[in-house]
Amino acid sequence: MAQKEEKEYLGNSLTFFVFIFEILYFSFFQELQEFEKTLKYHLLIPRLIEMKMPRKVKMYCPYCKRHTIHVVEKVKKRKASELKAGQRRFRRVTAGYGGFPRPRFEGREKPTKRINVRFRCTECNRAHTSPMIRAKKFELVEVK
Ligand SMILES: [Zn+2]
Repeated sequence: MAQKEEKEYLGNSLTFFVFIFEILYFSFFQELQEFEKTLKYHLLIPRLIEMKMPRKVKMYCPYCKRHTIHVVEKVKKRKASELKAGQRRFRRVTAGYGGFPRPRFEGREKPTKRINVRFRCTECNRAHTSPMIRAKKFELVEVK
């Protein structure tokens, strides 16, 4: 009888240890996976975190149809027009009963922000834009 009890006790403790081991192993594995994800995310941003751009650039002007000197301007956020689609939607959603529309929670803050740059031609004084840049810091630098 005593031997049987001992055997049962041993078996129970073994399953218990296996259970604890599994929990620890899976939690560790999940953490590792998350760490790998973040690592991949940071590796995918190749040195775009800090960006310096000259104040004046020589580039193609689509209006003059030749290369001219352009002044680089950072596009600032303006007050939303009441006629824009986003503002109309906002007014429609906030009207009447119901909560304030909340942004979808991402779980973290993005390491880079969108930056829009406008190039103004010094000859025709007309501006055109280029594809958006993502960067953490953006600076306009004077180049001699
Ligand atoms: Zn021009």
